[in-house]
Parts: sequence; C-alpha cells; structure tokens
Amino acid sequence: MHANCPVCGVSLTPEPGFYFGALYVSYAFTVALMIATWLLFYLLIQPPDWVYGTSLVVSCILSIPFSFRYSRVLFLYWFGGNAYRHQP
Ligand SMILES: [Zn+2]
Repeated sequence: MHANCPVCGVSLTPEPGFYFGALYVSYAFTVALMIATWLLFYLLIQPPDWVYGTSLVVSCILSIPFSFRYSRVLFLYWFGGNAYRHQP
C-alpha cells in the first residue's frame, strides 16, 4: 500500500491505527464468502462434510489479497473523509 496517493500526494494513513477498523470490513467479506461457498456447494454437489470444511478454508486463504486490500479501501472511503475522494 502506498504511503501517499500517487496522484495527489495525500497521506493514506489518516492517523496511527486507522486501519484497525478495516478488520470489520474484512470480517464481513469473509462471512459473505463462506456463506456463498457453502451455498454453492450445498446447491450443486452436496459433498461430504470434510469437503465443506476444506473448501471454506481454501476459499478464505485465496481471498486474503482481495479482502486485505479492499477492506482497507472501503474503510478509507467510508471513514477517511472527503480528502480521499479524487475529483475527476
Ligand atoms: Zn489522491
């Protein structure tokens, strides 16, 4: 993650510890992903329980790069103030 915006130079860390709140966004992503994965498997193939567990863990691990970045982006947009929205 850049320390400053490469376009306008504004700091992307408004205050120390700002991104602790992004863990709640990441948690929501993870819960939604797990429900979607479970529902997909349940509706399509109804595998044994160990396949459910393994697929949930694997899908969560694979989504870490997405979840990490986009939870921070959304948190910055929601709580960072208007300074973090570029004007075209
Ligand atoms: Zn900018």
